[in-house]
Amino acid sequence: MTSSSASPVLPALAPYGWDEAWADAFVPYAAEGLLPGRVIRVDRGQCDVVTPSGVLRADTAFVTPHDPLRVVCTGDWVAVEAGGNPRYVRACLPRRTAFVRSTSSKRSEGQILAANVDHAIVAVSLAAELDLGRVERFLALAWESGAQPLVVLTKADLVPDPVTRSHLVQDVELSAPGVTVLLVSAVEGDGLDVLVSLVSGGTSVLLGQSGAGKSTLANTLIGEDVMDVRAARDVDGKGRHTTTTRNLLALPGGGVLIDTPGLRGVGLYDAESGVGQVFSEIEELAERCRFHDCAHTAEPGCAVLAAVDAGELAVRRLESYRKLIRENQWIVAKTDARLRAEIRRDWKRKGAEGRAAMEAKRGRRR
Ligand code: GDP
Ligand code: ZN
Repeated sequence: MTSSSASPVLPALAPYGWDEAWADAFVPYAAEGLLPGRVIRVDRGQCDVVTPSGVLRADTAFVTPHDPLRVVCTGDWVAVEAGGNPRYVRACLPRRTAFVRSTSSKRSEGQILAANVDHAIVAVSLAAELDLGRVERFLALAWESGAQPLVVLTKADLVPDPVTRSHLVQDVELSAPGVTVLLVSAVEGDGLDVLVSLVSGGTSVLLGQSGAGKSTLANTLIGEDVMDVRAARDVDGKGRHTTTTRNLLALPGGGVLIDTPGLRGVGLYDAESGVGQVFSEIEELAERCRFHDCAHTAEPGCAVLAAVDAGELAVRRLESYRKLIRENQWIVAKTDARLRAEIRRDWKRKGAEGRAAMEAKRGRRR
């Protein structure tokens, strides 16, 4: 039903992730004579779009809504009116996933960073001590976006002992239910073939702290030519961004990499459901707490605290969970005074209840 209008463009856009579902979504636009394409870069009112006719620059005036989360961004699939001058993006196809960053602005709005990402690669360096709390933050962000996270422990060559290696992997696996954890060494080549094949089936982004090895991984995935460019850039110490204008690249081994400057050190934004997925075992336990809104601090009948007492749940994990929830509420609340007041009231109440419960407990002991 759809193939007559959409299939001729498939070969050119397939390396960028074009598939039957996108072709289906595009049918009405094809009927209007518009060209499909994927946004590889956005730049103040304009964007670069890879289309079957090559990379075109198009104006986004028609698709600039008031909601900043609906602004066209890197990774979007769009319909371009290619005939005129200027060319215009006429529509943006509904996103499958979206990475959003919290803003420091007064209004409760985030900033859209990347769209239609399938894999979020969280790079974690083994050169430093594992910070599982940080890993959990990146995982929460990834889940929230809708992408499937993947943890890559980089610089594995610095941990030659196989027993230590597998302990590190296990530690991360316990903090990352449902997530593949991969050991990689760019120096010795371990794990790189697995990584290449994992990213070949979709669009990936690299997340992680500065120094985690993201650029090195990107270079490995992209291939030598770009690596040379980046190495040359490193000589003068700062990124001459003119040399790498594309924020979205089709990889030689298959798949697409989105690597925008804003995405790397991204913060949390309204990631509550993402938090739930990172801490799925805690959320499962919480269903058995006596109180529906149990804060797992000192409430009677708390199944989470019982699991900690029984040694089934690490205290660190529970603290990490609490911290993320608090932080997340704060990000949402800092822009919304009413919610802020509510949360303050809630904390006060929980604090009072907690103290009362503690006192009751102590009273019983005495
Ligand atoms: P980014 O800030 O996350 O992009 O991290 P980089 O890719 O720039 O890497 C930070 C540092 O770690 C650089 O000095 C890299 O050479 C080094 N590095 C990256 N990958 C590896 C690795 O697999 N093994 C070792 N030993 N060092 C690495
Ligand atoms: Zn509880």
